[in-house]
Amino acid sequence: PKTLRLILGDQLNAQHSWFDEKDSSVTYLMLELRQETDYVAHHIQKVVAFFLSMRNFAQLLNTQGHTVHYVQLDQEDNSQDLKKMIQGMVKKHHFEQFEYQLPDEYRLDTQLKSICKNLSIPCRSVDSEHFLTEREYVKDFFHGKKTFLMESFYRQMRKDFTILMDGKEPLQGKWNFDHENRAALKDKRLLRKPKTHPKPVSDVVKMIKKANVKTIGKIAEEEFTWPCSREESLEVLDHFCTQLLVHFGDYQDALTTWDPFLFHSRLSFAMNTKMLSPLEVVQKVEAYWKEHQDTIAISQTEGFIRQIIGWREYMRGIYWAKMPEFAELNFFNHQRKLPDWFWTGDTKMKCLSHSIGQSLDLAYAHHIQRLMVIGNFALLAGIHPDEVDQWYLGVYIDAIEWVEITNTRGMSQFADGGIVGTKPYVSSANYIHKMGNYCSHCAYSSSKKVGEGACPFNSLYWHFYNRNREKLENNPRIGMAYRTLDKLKNKEELINQAEEYLKNLDDL
Ligand code: FAD
Repeated sequence: PKTLRLILGDQLNAQHSWFDEKDSSVTYLMLELRQETDYVAHHIQKVVAFFLSMRNFAQLLNTQGHTVHYVQLDQEDNSQDLKKMIQGMVKKHHFEQFEYQLPDEYRLDTQLKSICKNLSIPCRSVDSEHFLTEREYVKDFFHGKKTFLMESFYRQMRKDFTILMDGKEPLQGKWNFDHENRAALKDKRLLRKPKTHPKPVSDVVKMIKKANVKTIGKIAEEEFTWPCSREESLEVLDHFCTQLLVHFGDYQDALTTWDPFLFHSRLSFAMNTKMLSPLEVVQKVEAYWKEHQDTIAISQTEGFIRQIIGWREYMRGIYWAKMPEFAELNFFNHQRKLPDWFWTGDTKMKCLSHSIGQSLDLAYAHHIQRLMVIGNFALLAGIHPDEVDQWYLGVYIDAIEWVEITNTRGMSQFADGGIVGTKPYVSSANYIHKMGNYCSHCAYSSSKKVGEGACPFNSLYWHFYNRNREKLENNPRIGMAYRTLDKLKNKEELINQAEEYLKNLDDL
């Protein structure tokens, strides 16, 4: 039958079995739509990266002999409405069947189901053939459990896909080398240049601006560095293996003003758009490591692989186990608005001005900047998780709801009350100071708790525990914090200091 197949912007998977054969009865539909540019204010680099990658993918399919119908954002016949576009195509070209790959977002899943209900032809959804597990796997795996422990899921993945295994045992006798992966970077000379792909972007930017799409952040041709095709993505992966893997684990948590990327792979956008598959990434990294075991420790490799077949895969499963309720959770009932400097980076706190500034400049921050600097602050300051989610969903190149919301609302803000994590990720200035050089460039003093110039993290940290005592005190992993709090001689002073800061978050 004459078939219309939809390809969403994050389904750029050239290895999908759809493309195994050329079939003249099949047309692939790809759309640049306002519903996608407008569901949140995205970083300009994110919109550009999506459109460029989609256009490259359409071109690739064309050269392979597939029929693609691609509609640009500014095309006259673009009604900007997914339902109308699909209905219009079906009617005009007399398609007899409609097919789509299961989307990763709840929003699109619901929308596509509803579109199909109203189409007069048979509709079918197929797997996106990207993840290691099916949507419901995590839900079934943790059936009946309150906390979904990532580590047990991760070990199962290692066994099921024979990754870093020695028969039934983990290679070198240990599942997890996280304890070895916590160093601060002391020597600049270790840093490597990232593999970037600067490219002309002015035409796409012009189109986006002309359409009045509301965006955040900056873009410059020479600084637009993201891979926007499978070929470029493979180069970034190769660069990771040859240049960065050697120190990935060591400095995974390091915080520094020296470099935005450190030894991180910059592969999240390529994977989230499916230009690379998670399994091919970990298999390539494992194979590379096996050939270079004399120079690269297993801790670097295991740390990296855990992020992908562990955290990434697990977050996707949590999303399908807990949506749509997850998006409403607000365990601490936090209500504050984000301070204005989240959109400028203009705060005296160096850790935040650097991490937020970098996010706005590059659409990127690494995990510990997202978790222990920006997210940590938002949680301590009691920001409403909706506000935090909107910001994260907009600002990062890799932000798609299934992986953004589970990380932000779940892991970072503990708004799920402990589904993703067993305790909130909060810290005082001490941790940030220990992990890098932000504090030595700061207007505040990391060692000062109250008074002029005291780092806000210090008093906000105790304010957070103090105001959430009822909700947290009985958590066995937290009890210690309350014993310390109750012994503090200047407890009242600390709480008052935090109250002062909370009154004027915009001025920090
Ligand atoms: P690397 O450090 O090189 O890690 C390799 C890969 O592991 C990443 O590309 C990513 O695919 C995966 N990974 C690592 N940590 C996680 C994690 N916690 N969850 C899922 N995958 C992980 N990641 C996103 O892809 N999209 C998001 O919207 C997103 N939002 C986040 C929000 C918060 C508050 C936090 C704490 C983390 C978030 N992450 C998100 C996870 C992680 O920070 C990014 O995947 C990572 O920084 C991307 O950079 P990289 O490719 O250089 O990662």
